[in-house]
Amino acid sequence: MKIRVKHSKKEITFFIDVEEEDNLHPSPKVSLSKRNFSFKLPKGLSSKNIHPDHLALISILVCHPFIGKRIKFPKPISKKFFEATNVISRYVVENIDEDLEPWTPLADSRPALAFSGGADSTAALALMPENTVPVFLDRPLPLLRISKYDKNAPHVACEKLSELGYDVYKIEADLEYVRKPVGFPVDVANAAPAIILANHMQFDAIAFGTIMESAFGVGHPNYRNYPKGSHYRMWGTLFAAVGLPLLQVVSGVSEVGTSIINRDSSFGHIAHSCMRGKWMNPCRNCWKCFRKLVLDSVVNNKKISEKELNELFKIREAKYHLSQFPIKHENVLTYSTSKYVELFELDIEGNESMMSLLTKRVRGDVLEVDWMEKYFPVMFDIIPEKYRDGLKIKLEKYLQPMTKKEQEIVLNWNLNTMLNDEYYQELNSSFCKKLNSH
Ligand SMILES: [Zn+2]
Repeated sequence: MKIRVKHSKKEITFFIDVEEEDNLHPSPKVSLSKRNFSFKLPKGLSSKNIHPDHLALISILVCHPFIGKRIKFPKPISKKFFEATNVISRYVVENIDEDLEPWTPLADSRPALAFSGGADSTAALALMPENTVPVFLDRPLPLLRISKYDKNAPHVACEKLSELGYDVYKIEADLEYVRKPVGFPVDVANAAPAIILANHMQFDAIAFGTIMESAFGVGHPNYRNYPKGSHYRMWGTLFAAVGLPLLQVVSGVSEVGTSIINRDSSFGHIAHSCMRGKWMNPCRNCWKCFRKLVLDSVVNNKKISEKELNELFKIREAKYHLSQFPIKHENVLTYSTSKYVELFELDIEGNESMMSLLTKRVRGDVLEVDWMEKYFPVMFDIIPEKYRDGLKIKLEKYLQPMTKKEQEIVLNWNLNTMLNDEYYQELNSSFCKKLNSH
């Protein structure tokens, strides 16, 4: 694969030239669709000043799943970045300029945050220095196709942050259309606009809203040692080599923790998880709304009315996700149901309501859950030194560290015993049956 770039005053466009060995369909559900992508540039930024290593990293972020044997970058890269690409085993990278200095930020630089307007990245911002620049990737909407995606909420969130004094950037970029179905080719590709701005703004790290469920695997069947795992090894190495180390400020914080941070921080209320509703007015008809409304009810100690609860279990998307075994980020539902039963004194024995059945199905009646209100200290192993102390002070304004015993729960996380247990298999089928006729 070869990548070319075209500069104009207002935008930079990347062209993907496919070669024979490239992988146009890396999996049955994913394929290469659009063969170019652009970034609209803010005033004063000349794309010709973007460092070749930054252009190369963006090329990898967008094209990674589709690269066959090699990738040739728009401009020759530094030796340092070339050596870092040794972490990639599937393909080689080409064209080095032995004399090119790697990019390094100036001394008084600051961090960027790949900001989505959602709960996790808003909580991440609350833990970061006040000079952090939230960078929002503004996906252009297709004119002729009907999309349920609504940009109103993240745009309002950006405006509110600007009013609070943050230097917010919205960068229009269509890189999500390179992949079919539309979306990020790799999860950290949402950092691409921040990389475009890095030299212009002098960033020295890029933060994400990656939470403990994703980083350490507690939203999945098994614990994952994130600092030693393949995701961090690859992306952590590549980002660090271009002078922009990953800043995973919420990687030890669960979705429960980010909800608590947003409840207690000065701007947490601007967060909006639903991709469809308007700002402060979620659609109440999607899976994210289901999870968030139930979690918020326990975090804010506000009971959901019977009628509303009944409506939530009728959401089509929620039915689909709740029927999975295990459910994605099931631990969060374990927390929500456990607290729901406790706070609102729900008698789940001899009660066949959907909420009671869900509580039993996700083990909200038997598991310890308070650890999700705390942070997992192992996250600090991968925080760049410059940011470590400041982050710890801010984080502990909201959450306490897990005790040794609680950390053991995370370290030993494993859903397989439950998945193989006949009792839970049967509970799952009766729950699904009732859910689908609800
Ligand atoms: Zn929604």
